[in-house]
Amino acid sequence: LTIPISIVFSLLCFYIIHLIGTQHYSLGYRLTLAVKRRELVAFYQPIIDAQTGYIVGAEALVRWIKPNGSVESPGAFIQTLEQSKLINKVTLQLVNNMPNDLAEVLQCSPNFRCSINLVPQHLELPFFADELVTLSKNGYPCHQLAIEITERLPLKDLREAGMNVEKMKALGVCIELDDAGTGYGGASYLQELNIDVIKIDKLFVDTLIISPDRTQVLDANIQMAKTLGMQIIAEGVEEPSQSKALLEKGVRFQQGYLFAQPMSAVEFVKFWRIRQESYADQFLNSTQVP
Ligand code: C2E
Ligand code: MG
Ligand code: MG
Ligand code: MG
Repeated sequence: LTIPISIVFSLLCFYIIHLIGTQHYSLGYRLTLAVKRRELVAFYQPIIDAQTGYIVGAEALVRWIKPNGSVESPGAFIQTLEQSKLINKVTLQLVNNMPNDLAEVLQCSPNFRCSINLVPQHLELPFFADELVTLSKNGYPCHQLAIEITERLPLKDLREAGMNVEKMKALGVCIELDDAGTGYGGASYLQELNIDVIKIDKLFVDTLIISPDRTQVLDANIQMAKTLGMQIIAEGVEEPSQSKALLEKGVRFQQGYLFAQPMSAVEFVKFWRIRQESYADQFLNSTQVP
């Protein structure tokens, strides 16, 4: 009897050692470790005023920098992160790092704004707004921060969310509706959440090249934003023809691979410097020539 027990025991030991030695941890556990080790950082994608070429802002997008240096996009892990409390820690880390990551840009461009993606619990519970109140008291540039509220996930308590949004607005935070027209919120979000900016989803921007004679929903979205006095940012602009068509429709602020991919903080600041310089030169030249 002792022989089979010892065999089972050693097999069990081998299995446990195997588990420890390899990648068989759950994604949730690996993410917990990654957050502790600060492997989740923000990449920044510029938002351009397509009329002047200047960078008016950026969106912070989370990336997982693996110990071997590879960069993983959120597609592979954002759902797991969002379904656990880890998302709170990660979001606060991104918010806390922003002033340092973008110090030069924030200082030189007082109107530059960086947005951060939130999940419903950041609005339905008071901790996130309260954290911003504290940060603001300690000199955090809240007027250069924007929050993106996605339509992709349902908000259960719109009234509570509205109250927390007001707290943030009072600090100067800009309120943006992300993935507009693709999800749950629609008109109720616009009414209750005091939205400043509508981010028109790539889905609608794509109709400009996929089916140019069927851009009615895009046009209606733009018209609605204008009627409500909200600013518009078009997402996922990949082609010059899209950018031009959007400009003709009065949509100046654009984001997409046509201009730049999301970049590490260091790369973003470099990109910003070069672009601001070259466009400032252009502007000087054009004003010198009568
Ligand atoms: P999103 O907030 O709508 O962000 C825009 C996504 O479109 C980003 O993907 C961006 O890299 C991508 N994109 C930008 N321009 C183009 C383009 O021209 N063409 C194409 N094909 N794609 C473009 P990414 O970074 O993979 O993020 C995917 C989604 O993950 C985000 O969609 C957002 O919903 C979520 N996410 C990213 N970072 C965070 C975060 O820190 N917190 C939370 N809660 N969600 C995040
Ligand atoms: Mg977003
Ligand atoms: Mg978006
Ligand atoms: Mg989106």
